Amino acid sequence: MLFLAGFVQGLRVAMSGRGQLDIVIAGGGFAGLTLAIALRESLGPSFSVVVADPLLGRSHSGDERASAIVAAVRRLFATVGIWQGIEADAQPILDMVVTDSRLDDAVRPVFLSFAGEIEPGEPFAHMVENRLLIAALEARAKELGVELLAAAVAGFSQDPATRSDHIDVELTDGKRLTTGLLVAADGARSSIRERAGIAIHGWDYGQSAIVINVSHERDHHGRAEEHFLPAGPFAILPLKGRRSSLVWTEATKEAERIVALPDAEFHAELEKRFKLHLGEIAVIGARRVHPLGFFVARSFIADRIALVGDTAHVIHPIAGQGLNMGLKDVAALAEVIVDAARLGLDPGSADVLERYQRWRRFDTMAMGFATDGLNRLFSNRSAALRAVRDIGLGLVDRVPNLKRLFIREAAGLVGEVPKLLRGEAL
Ligand SMILES: Cc1cc2nc3c(=O)[nH]c(=O)nc-3n(C[C@H](O)[C@H](O)[C@H](O)COP(=O)(O)OP(=O)(O)OC[C@H]3O[C@@H](n4cnc5c(N)ncnc54)[C@H](O)[C@@H]3O)c2cc1C
Repeated sequence: MLFLAGFVQGLRVAMSGRGQLDIVIAGGGFAGLTLAIALRESLGPSFSVVVADPLLGRSHSGDERASAIVAAVRRLFATVGIWQGIEADAQPILDMVVTDSRLDDAVRPVFLSFAGEIEPGEPFAHMVENRLLIAALEARAKELGVELLAAAVAGFSQDPATRSDHIDVELTDGKRLTTGLLVAADGARSSIRERAGIAIHGWDYGQSAIVINVSHERDHHGRAEEHFLPAGPFAILPLKGRRSSLVWTEATKEAERIVALPDAEFHAELEKRFKLHLGEIAVIGARRVHPLGFFVARSFIADRIALVGDTAHVIHPIAGQGLNMGLKDVAALAEVIVDAARLGLDPGSADVLERYQRWRRFDTMAMGFATDGLNRLFSNRSAALRAVRDIGLGLVDRVPNLKRLFIREAAGLVGEVPKLLRGEAL
């Protein structure tokens, strides 16, 4: 039986040089792999899905980042069989505190706090290390028979005569694929978006995030902390064990200076911000700097092309929502593709792609501008603005219904939520 399955798989790979594939996904990051998994899980092996990415199969050990996976995305992951592979390594966020202080303030009063359950027993978010998440996604994709090709998409073309039928995709290893739909999940610097002539609208923040992991003497008890300091947010996010992931925002020049400091001086800067409430701290692994910017693509679709994840939008990590937004794109695109395929319609047709774009573009603009506004409101030294925002935070903290709405919004459960994010199979 095993031999037969291998033979059929081999035949299918050989066919993909000539036959038409249902979908080719450029980019095997979080967005690309999750889309592939959701489609195979819903439509089965007769729906051919190829993911091409030169980094497939390589370890992501250099990625020190961890991501806050909100409740809606956890539901998606559970529905398509991904969560089972990461649950043991995921740290639930059990509560969260927000402060707003100057760097040298001895005490940081808490302006907003919340216990993190969205439904009884369902935390509003979990922290997951990026390299573990990618490994779990690759394993699940393989299990479902997604064809994974370790090569980049070098280009694509559409024959004007048969433009409405298919798109030809060329890989860097010389392979050529023909497909009804090319999904660009190739990240913020997407070459596919550029080749498709889709412009982006946005700006740099002049800020960068220093990302490090630390170990500490005491338990964090699942508490996340966001300290709004004048240079930008300093977030302490709990990981499994006595460890936390830090996203530490500074003006770019200052971030570069700090990250290059000798160990003892770096540690002194870190302690000034982290404080000693979790006991002695030690940096684990490398220090990295990520420049921060904001953009939204002017269109999320082109002829037989759809953009998802960071290819379509990049936002400030102040609310930890970038990846979650990308996975909302994935849930919406998977739903429109599955609906079309089940009705015998062409999943790459303009009508289907328009439905996806209508669903996601407005929501993306709203979240993008909300995070942009938050960053502008908090990353400054104005005493007047500080008073205004502290009254705002205090108000949210004291009105339970408002607080609940904010938490549900942050958990991705407000608005026209795609089925997968509600935990429903397609
Ligand atoms: C400091 C920081 C902290 C963050 N924290 C959070 C958080 O807590 N929660 C959250 O939701 N988000 C967070 N984000 C955002 C999140 O990391 C990104 O939104 C997410 O990584 C984007 O995933 P993606 O799959 O869209 O793109 P990527 O992860 O960029 O994947 C793109 C893939 O495409 C591949 N590729 C590139 N070119 C080609 C090509 N031509 N052909 C084929 N493949 C190609 C690449 O090799 C890569 O694997 C944070 C971001 C930063 C900077």
